[in-house]
Amino acid sequence: MPVHSYLRPALLALGMTLSGLLPAQKSTPAIEQKIDALLAKMTIEEKAGEMTQLSLDMICVGSPYNLTQPLAIDPAKLKKVIQDYHVGSILNVGTSAHTAARWQEIITAIQTEAAKSRLKIPVLYGIDAIHGVNYTLGTTLYPQPIGVAATWNPALAERLGAITAYECRASGIPWTFSPAMDLCRYPVWSRTWESFGEDVLMNKTFGSAMVKGYQGSNLADAFHVAACMKHFTGYGAAVSGKDRTYAWIPDRELREYYLPQYEAAIKNGAMTIMINSSGFNGIPAHANKQLLTGILKGEWGFKGLVVSDWEDVKYLTTRHKVAATYKEAVQMAVNAGIDLAMVPNDLEFTQLLIESIQEGSIPMSRINDAVRRILRVKMMLGLFEKTHDPLSNYPKFGGEEFRQTSLEAAREALILAKNQDKVLPLSKQSRVLVVGPTANSMRALNGGWTNTWQGEQANEVYAAKNTILEAIQAAIGADKVTYVEGATSEALTTVSEAVAAAANADAIVLCLGEQSYTEVPGTINDLALDAPQVELAHALAKTGKPVVLVLAEGRPRLIQAFEAEMKAVLIAFLPGMEGGQAIADALFGDVNPSGKLPLTYPRYANGIVPYDYKFLEALDPSAGYPGGKNKFYDPQYPFGHGLSYTTFNYKNLTVSKPAFNKNEALEVSVQVTNSGAREGKETVELYVSDLFASIAPSVRRLRGFQKISLKAGETQTVTFKITTQDLAFVGIDNKWVTEPGDFKAMIGDLSVDFKLNKAAVKAAAKKRGP
Ligand code: BGC
Repeated sequence: MPVHSYLRPALLALGMTLSGLLPAQKSTPAIEQKIDALLAKMTIEEKAGEMTQLSLDMICVGSPYNLTQPLAIDPAKLKKVIQDYHVGSILNVGTSAHTAARWQEIITAIQTEAAKSRLKIPVLYGIDAIHGVNYTLGTTLYPQPIGVAATWNPALAERLGAITAYECRASGIPWTFSPAMDLCRYPVWSRTWESFGEDVLMNKTFGSAMVKGYQGSNLADAFHVAACMKHFTGYGAAVSGKDRTYAWIPDRELREYYLPQYEAAIKNGAMTIMINSSGFNGIPAHANKQLLTGILKGEWGFKGLVVSDWEDVKYLTTRHKVAATYKEAVQMAVNAGIDLAMVPNDLEFTQLLIESIQEGSIPMSRINDAVRRILRVKMMLGLFEKTHDPLSNYPKFGGEEFRQTSLEAAREALILAKNQDKVLPLSKQSRVLVVGPTANSMRALNGGWTNTWQGEQANEVYAAKNTILEAIQAAIGADKVTYVEGATSEALTTVSEAVAAAANADAIVLCLGEQSYTEVPGTINDLALDAPQVELAHALAKTGKPVVLVLAEGRPRLIQAFEAEMKAVLIAFLPGMEGGQAIADALFGDVNPSGKLPLTYPRYANGIVPYDYKFLEALDPSAGYPGGKNKFYDPQYPFGHGLSYTTFNYKNLTVSKPAFNKNEALEVSVQVTNSGAREGKETVELYVSDLFASIAPSVRRLRGFQKISLKAGETQTVTFKITTQDLAFVGIDNKWVTEPGDFKAMIGDLSVDFKLNKAAVKAAAKKRGP
């Protein structure tokens, strides 16, 4: 039995919503009537306030970014914000994570003030709960999204989302700014790890799974939260690879790569969406009416709310320079389709919005639409009935059940990229030398959005959790483990001590990678791992002792300078608070790794090519050019790569018929055998090549995957269904089309040809694709 099947995700997404949208997106006539009644009563000032989102800093003692410690609400500021400015939403953490009890006090204070207002409209509180509720102490933190994708297990992703929803509500907060579904095609980007990787199907599948976990089927049940898809769209496609810089995305690519994941999540009920802080084709996304109103609200009929990103309305003037004044920026953004502005630290926005409405620069219909969307989310979350449940209603908060799920995810996220001479798993009798800047760091395991925005306090806050070093000590006994730091990212520190210590070790576990960061502070100019870490690796390899490289990092830092010297490579990305234990479990064989890469791990800084590049293999210099040797796609490890301690054999790849027609599903089957000595999980990946098409086709596209578990010697037949829509692409007229002709299905090293008959085409061309 397959653990799950995400073949035909588009159809799955559609199939689940044939009768319309999931409950989470379905408003009711009663809700709409209540909104009508409120809208009729609201003044222009109240409407403008409703469309304003401020940071918590604005109601606390101190000034933004410089709050008095411990954080305290300033009642006068709170009163002003709610009663005078009618602010509809508040976000962020102020300083660093609070206890759930403290959060409940904060939320209670805010909602008590809101209840004193003329119309008693509750405040919508939003938080970045990116890998668990990272701004509440004692919650369950799990792998960052890149690791969640590396599990290739969407059912597990949905369970993780449900944990976040539960612990977020326990904190009194009903809205998370997640999932990010930015397709990351240039992994130098500092937010690579916040996405599900480079592939559309992966982003679509995991984005929708998280949305379902967050929202459940009843948003008002006190255990689910509104999801916020982000960052709409093209944020991860920046030409420079630097955060918040521009992309260039032709319409065809936009529709094929940067829209489907959002459309699918909306069909799965996603309530809210945040906009790309940058933009594409020279148009800031916050001013892109075609995108926000034309496609999102028009074509897709999105009924939820559109929130700006941090200060991005003002940035239309200060950063993007498309508006000469803040007021013009306000008009531009709201007219483009922004419903709620994450201001976050001024009250000028609200005033400028009021003036713009009074002057007629923003039509009242637009304002009413924006306010309706905000009120709809609040009502569907049940905020008008009760602001939150008491903490005692959340007995599972931070408990063992959730910890086990986090551990399961961290284990499944580990990618065994190399295992020469079966050096792994290590014997528990081994004497192990542990070296490297990420070996004894909770920061390196958790990444940004951990306790604070940049995650820099994780070592102190998560001191009770095991780092990689501590988990290794726990696994084999501290007496068999020696630890020497060796280097930091900046400098060699104790490299000669590390080399000397190798003499007494049977194996070296070298932990390299990155410390925590996100957004602009994480921007780098060079994807190569820092020189001191590379030097440390060379020095340890020279000792002749087997070196096992463990990478804790948010993006695939280049390792080709020394990878050949490493016996084994385990890529952990950012596995979260249980990551240390998961890594030790894998190193000593208590767990059999089953993660696979959700992105291409590049070998060269100038050889960054995603796996689904256009069909240009004839240009591969290694294929026939005199003297040519460089391969076109020559990554360190390809997309979808990941080894196991057992082996899987694939045979008998077959299609149910050599040619198929519209309305028919083609079945592609393969037999998978666990040919090794121990049980293991394997993700069976189906790729399809369109051999000839009117738009140069990709060399291959991931069209389905299933993760299965096989005992030693066990065989299972895995079957995928392909329909014409699974083979669609965006054609010459920028519309989805399926063309007849020859295709190749590929699983593992096997391939089989099939045909799509001509008759299939006409009907398929009319439908929209995945
Ligand atoms: C980030 C968003 C985040 C928002 C609120 C912005 O800087 O780009 O991803 O949700 O801040 O914290």
